[in-house]
Amino acid sequence: MSQKRIRTRYAPSPTGYIHIGNVRTALYADFVAKQAKGDFLLRIEDTDQSRYVEGATESLCKTLKLLDLEPNEGVWLDDDGKIIQRGDHGPYIQSERKHIHQEYAKKLIEMDKAYYCFCTAERLDEVRKMQELTKRPTGYDGHCRDLDPTEVTKRLEAGESHVVRLKLPKEGSVTVNDVIRGEVTFDWNLIDDQVIIKSDGMATYHLAAMADDHDMEITHVIRGEEWLSSTPKHIFIYQAFGWDLPVFAHLPLILNHDKSKLSKRQGDVAAEIYLDKGYLPKAMINFLALLGWNPTADREIFTHKELIDLFNLSKVNKAGAIFQIDKLNWLNNHYLREIDEQSYFDLVLPHLNAYKEDDNFKKRVAILYRERMTLPAEITEQSKYLFTEKLNYSEVQITWKDHSKLEAKERLEAAKIWIEQINDSKEFNSSFIEEYIKSMIQENGWGNGDTLWPLRVSLSAQEKSPSPFELIAVYGKKMSIQRIDQALAQML
Ligand code: GLU
Repeated sequence: MSQKRIRTRYAPSPTGYIHIGNVRTALYADFVAKQAKGDFLLRIEDTDQSRYVEGATESLCKTLKLLDLEPNEGVWLDDDGKIIQRGDHGPYIQSERKHIHQEYAKKLIEMDKAYYCFCTAERLDEVRKMQELTKRPTGYDGHCRDLDPTEVTKRLEAGESHVVRLKLPKEGSVTVNDVIRGEVTFDWNLIDDQVIIKSDGMATYHLAAMADDHDMEITHVIRGEEWLSSTPKHIFIYQAFGWDLPVFAHLPLILNHDKSKLSKRQGDVAAEIYLDKGYLPKAMINFLALLGWNPTADREIFTHKELIDLFNLSKVNKAGAIFQIDKLNWLNNHYLREIDEQSYFDLVLPHLNAYKEDDNFKKRVAILYRERMTLPAEITEQSKYLFTEKLNYSEVQITWKDHSKLEAKERLEAAKIWIEQINDSKEFNSSFIEEYIKSMIQENGWGNGDTLWPLRVSLSAQEKSPSPFELIAVYGKKMSIQRIDQALAQML
């Protein structure tokens, strides 16, 4: 028998942003497909019209594009930024499949696997209240499950508002076989007769997604853990039609440090916000891929290609994964150091726009902070002193430990003279300057600390800053001397 072509999908609802956890879902689906040289599809699940957000699909595709998560089939953007649908299993926008879903619902009714339900919202409300009052489990009471077919026809012909519900077994159990969780068994008597067609004629997720997954020949349904408890209904639909079940993989939740579900209240959950803040796509992919899975215990840095090659769905942890922002920050710092210099400047220089110095100076500042930065925007504050015309030394101690002002002044005056003598064009790099200043220290019989501390503080007016050699290299001769003069003047 020939092996089925592996096909996975990412099936977001266009709600306006992509939850960071869903990016991981998309990544894993992408890994499984690409590793097997199969297909990765993007399907837009927009059957809940009340949640429709204008432009959400476009922005969703843009975000996926930025994250290098391009599907080879389904919904995408053309070069002009317009939505297109590619592939021969379309349409890939779920609302455009309304008639297909309705046909499937009809077939289920014909097979006695689903039924029309005419219960009004008021009735359902009363049923629920009564169940609550009598402390019984809430849920649909099966009122329309066995209506007389002629009555049903009459009520339909009269145009009475209705939904379609699955006619689920009332006893026994069903076992879901999940790649990550193994076998999970559910009792049917705890599962409600799910609505599959709403009164507006649109299918709910449960029918729409299963019908589409089947029609689109999806082999692996990779989705969030929140869908695990609905899987019995999905298996019921597959089995009613006699379809082969896909592989199910329910990914664990992403949690805050306190183990609560990562939610908007506790922090940012929209992938777009991370991109806007300057987290690099490579850092985000690396970080998210390792939330709940790690191919080796001894490495944290992986390229997208390596992740594809190494991924193993069955090795994903069952337990929720903690979202450690420190780790994302660390990875971002790593990737900021890795990108080419021009891309780095493109990201960072806009954050120095407020300062009037020339571009070469700004570039030197940007390089100075490259190793010290988590997010590009940090540089505005971090480097402010470098752009401040007159520094204020009142908050810092210029002298070294118990050294006197006189001793500090002596070293600063000497440094000025030495700096003055550096060859402006050839020797102005921090390693030359380091060697040079250290020879000055040696010649005078001074100590490193008692010379370099006052020098560094006079250049920065900061408790902590890059080394004096790096600062001199960034400032250049003239400005370094000016800074030392400023410090000397305030030491009077
Ligand atoms: N539209 C569903 C969601 O956004 C998709 C779940 C699935 O992948 O099947 O949660």
